[in-house]
Order: sequence, then structure tokens, then C-alpha cells
Amino acid sequence: NGHALKILISGGSGFIGSALIRHIMAQTPHSVINLDKLTYAANPLSLSSITDSQRYHFIKGDICDDKLVKSVFEHYQPDAVMHLAAESHVDRSIAGPAAFIQTNIVGTFNLLEASRIFFNDLPSHKAKRFRFHHISTDEVFGDLPQTGYFNEQNAYAPSSPYSASKASSDHLVKAWHRTYGLPTLISYCSNNYGPYQHPEKLIPLTITRAISGEPIPIYGNGQQIRDWLHVEDHVEALLAVLTRGHVGESYTIGGNNEHTNLQVVQLICKHLSTLMPEHHLATNNGFELLIRHVEDRLGHDQRYAIDASKITTELNWTPKRSFEDGLRNTVQWYLANS
Ligand code: NAD
Repeated sequence: NGHALKILISGGSGFIGSALIRHIMAQTPHSVINLDKLTYAANPLSLSSITDSQRYHFIKGDICDDKLVKSVFEHYQPDAVMHLAAESHVDRSIAGPAAFIQTNIVGTFNLLEASRIFFNDLPSHKAKRFRFHHISTDEVFGDLPQTGYFNEQNAYAPSSPYSASKASSDHLVKAWHRTYGLPTLISYCSNNYGPYQHPEKLIPLTITRAISGEPIPIYGNGQQIRDWLHVEDHVEALLAVLTRGHVGESYTIGGNNEHTNLQVVQLICKHLSTLMPEHHLATNNGFELLIRHVEDRLGHDQRYAIDASKITTELNWTPKRSFEDGLRNTVQWYLANS
């Protein structure tokens, strides 16, 4: 709240973490220690604009390395932790779940333990403001029917190895709060989109395939519904939770912006047609002819949607970006950054 904080961010070289760090550097006085293993999912270029800032420190390392994590706490003495490091791609979790168990569960355990030991030794004025903010996903709640919304009271019902590993990490965070009094916060966000997302995810995959005239795969009938939120809106919500959230509480974050996967792909094709009029597929819905329905994902959840009224009323956060503009800007960004 007005103080310049030293924030230890795990996974800061990923899609959301890098957006968070760019935002913190541009809009706040806080400093950042980014602990990232630089897996295939990381993109160091996403932080090239800020790497020479005095307020930014990068450590290449694994959150599962307990000695390293403890030494980072001792050396940097952070005021807060924002934990984003994770294996994040559902399809990869189905093909090979081991890395998800390791990073998402064991890695979270390591960070919690290092935080607990560090927190216990803090003088009371520092302990009072220390926070451990765990970044989770709405996927831990499983599937919604056509009506209704997820909120903070929802029962856990994860479907995939990814969401089960995230649910496990949430439970550890809740236990470290209840048992050890660690000042934790949890946020559950819906699907993010925006610049620098890895091309394995739906929106960048669709854009890159369409530009090169390759087939655009859609799982099953494409009627699965997701609630899309621009990554910048998510980042603003995360900082609201970190600086104004109530210890021990959790917050669902969403865009009130439901679309089927097929609608999202069709919207991208529409934007591409107007943004690239010279492309040979730009006329007569040519990009849409690339759509191929492929065998559905195993255990695929039908619908996710968020009731964000708690964060809106308690922390005064609402999404600012419209999906129409946000998606067009994202398509433009991928065209400029192939
Ligand atoms: P991402 O896959 O783009 O980035 C993950 C980052 O974590 C990468 O930089 C990677 O190098 C790092 N990492 C992975 N394993 C590590 C380890 N063992 N030690 C240190 N660093 C490691 O993911 P993202 O989309 O930016 O998601 C960030 C967080 O937000 C995740 O916890 C994810 O579950 C959550 N989340 C994502 C979304 C979404 O739509 N992308 C929605 C809700 C919640």
C-alpha cells in the first residue's frame, strides 16, 4: 500500500509472469527477483526491455531445488512472494504428468517451506506485511454445466493431471496458512490471452497456423466454453490481491467474457482478414476453411466461467479491456512478432 516492495516472483519469464514484471517495472516502485528455470515455456525476450533495471534481478533456477530457494530468501529478503512457476499446458500433462507433479506440487511445497522458515525469523513489523500469493487457475474446480459460475466457495473437482496438480498445490498453501500461520493469498483466474503467450496455446496456435496457411485444429465440436481475460487485466488483479487482499482469503478472477473455442477461432480469422487484406486467404472466410475438428482432448472440461464479484466489491478491480480490442491487438502483436 504505497510501500516499495521487494517481490520474489517465481516463473517470471513465462507468459503471465513476464507481463506481471513488465507492469511492475513500468507502473510501480516495487523491485523484483525473478526465479525461473527457463523451461521450454519461458521466453527471456519478453523481459528484454527491463533486464538492465536496478530494480530487477534474475536467478535461473528450479523451485524444486530446496537449497537454492532457501538461499534466495536469505540473500534477497523479499517482502512478498508471487508464485507463478508451473508446468501449465494441459495437453502436455496428459502426455507426461511427471513434470507437473514435480514442479507444481513439490516445487510449491519447497517455496512454502522456505517462506515459512524465513517468515518465522522476521521481526514483527516485517512479518506483518509479508505475503505468499499463490497463483492458481479456475480449472481446479472442474466442469460447469451450461449455467452457473465458479466462485471462491466452489468445491475442488479437477479433471486433468495439470488441474489436479494445481489443486494439490492450493491445498498445501491452505494448510501452510492454517497450520503454520503463513500469510497466504490464493487467486484463481480464467483463461488468459495476450502477447508473448507460447504458440502451443489456442489463440497463438490459431494465429500462427492461419498466417502460414496450415490447418487450425479444434478439439471435438469446438463448443467448449472458456471465460477469456486479457493478461494485463489479470496482472492488475494480481497486484490488487497482493497489496489489498485479506490474508488467508482467496479470489476468483475472470473477464465475464464467455466464448466457445470455435467462436474464438472464428473471431481470429475475422481479425486476420481485416489486418492482412493482401493474404491469399483474406477473402470469403478463407482462413476459416483451415479449421479442422480433431479428436477431443481426454477428460475435456465443457465450460469454465467465473463470478468475480468478490474481487470487484472488496478490492475494486474490474477488467478494463474489451475482448474485441484485446484480441485484435493480440493478433496484431503476433503479426509484428512472428
Ligand atoms: P507459462 O508456462 O507461460 O510459464 C511458466 C514459467 O514457469 C516459465 O517461465 C517456466 O520456465 C517457469 N517454470 C516452470 N517450471 C519451473 C521450475 N521448476 N522452477 C522455476 N521455474 C519454472 O505459464 P503461464 O501461462 O504464464 O502461467 C503462470 C501461472 O498462472 C501458472 O501457475 C498457471 O497455472 C497459472 N494460470 C495460468 C492461466 C493461463 O491462462 N495461462 C490461467 C490461470 C492460472
